[in-house]
Amino acid sequence: MPVTRTPDTLLPADALGRQDPELAEVLLAELGRQSTTLQLVAAENFTSPAVLAALGSPLVNKYAEGYPGARYHGGCEIVDVAERLAVERARALFGAEHANVQPHSGSSAVLAAYAALLRPGDTVLAMGLPHGGHLTHGSPANFSGRWFDFVGYGVDPDTGLVDYDEVRSLARTHRPKAVVCGSICYPRHLDYAAFREIADEAGAYLIADAAHPIGLVAGGAAPSPVPYADVVCATTHKVLRGPRGGMLLCGAELAERVDRAVFPFTQSGAQMHTVAAKAVAFGEASGPAFAAYAHQVVANARVLAKALADEGLDVVTGGTDTHLLTVDPAPLGVDGRAARGRLAAAGLVVDACALPRPDERGLRLGTAAVTTQGMGEAEMTRIAVLLAAVLREELPGRAAQAEVHGLTGRFPPYPG
Ligand SMILES: *Cc1c(COP(=O)(O)O)cnc(C)c1O
Repeated sequence: MPVTRTPDTLLPADALGRQDPELAEVLLAELGRQSTTLQLVAAENFTSPAVLAALGSPLVNKYAEGYPGARYHGGCEIVDVAERLAVERARALFGAEHANVQPHSGSSAVLAAYAALLRPGDTVLAMGLPHGGHLTHGSPANFSGRWFDFVGYGVDPDTGLVDYDEVRSLARTHRPKAVVCGSICYPRHLDYAAFREIADEAGAYLIADAAHPIGLVAGGAAPSPVPYADVVCATTHKVLRGPRGGMLLCGAELAERVDRAVFPFTQSGAQMHTVAAKAVAFGEASGPAFAAYAHQVVANARVLAKALADEGLDVVTGGTDTHLLTVDPAPLGVDGRAARGRLAAAGLVVDACALPRPDERGLRLGTAAVTTQGMGEAEMTRIAVLLAAVLREELPGRAAQAEVHGLTGRFPPYPG
């Protein structure tokens, strides 16, 4: 396996290496894995060294329950500056009246959105899990399914597209208190205006769970749910390329309810190192370089989708508008789960995912991480050809790995 140079900013070799070589080895091994295999997991990306620096900073030591200017702990005047910066940058970036940057994760953001708007037992209409809804959209194994009465809409089994007439008719029948739009594997833009209309007709709140596309929204490469949804939930670590965490956006009239739903209702101390890293990421995402990145992510995903279709895979919805695509590898004689294993062995890291026909499993791929590495459309075509060859078992494992190393060697995620 090629040796990966470790930039000093990533792993200050001295402190951890000297004190705890066992753990330092794990960090190095993971950096090596990320640098020498292809990260096609649609939810992943490579944060910048600046974001990593904020995460590994002494802000991690600070307790800060509450909000800037109104904390339950002393000594918060400096971390308050970090949170105010994060909030101001998020508001400006997304054109939102209010932003809450404290949710520890995307799921925490969704929990807080429900807490702000709903009571236990309320009916909620969301994309069903077998069609691409997230755990927090009504899984019986999750708080959402336990505490709310979820009704699921699906996608058309033939086109893979959301059937807005079905959503409307379910809303009319079930009169939900909230409609949730957002998915873990929907490759197309959602029609937020249509969801708004459906929610209004039912007298329901509209919650957009934009965990996946929010980074594209930041870069102007996808439509924004902010003008349409009562509350937008998001992650900061997917296409947006920030630290692992969540965020909420809403109008001024819901600001107080949303803030109280995060703290003190569902969380206590904010993670100030992460909040600071979110501010760094929002700063990065507001520049022209990020807009160019977001558009390249989509261009790459489109090329990857087309090239995979040319290789004989069945591309759900026929393509993509976003950073992610889902494909059925069945025409190549392998199902999604087996395909994921075969690809992993060759160094192509992907997820298995739902397909429009819910009893079948496909593959979900995303281009956020490889695009951060600087790969372009030529590399997407090569990846598609390689992926298909691996699935057809036409290529010895070693040859596939060598091809992957050729790519990752030319496009290191953290060039030294
Ligand atoms: C990723 C994702 C989440 C959850 O994010 P975590 O940070 O893993 O909790 C929620 N909703 C959707 C639609 C997602 O894609």
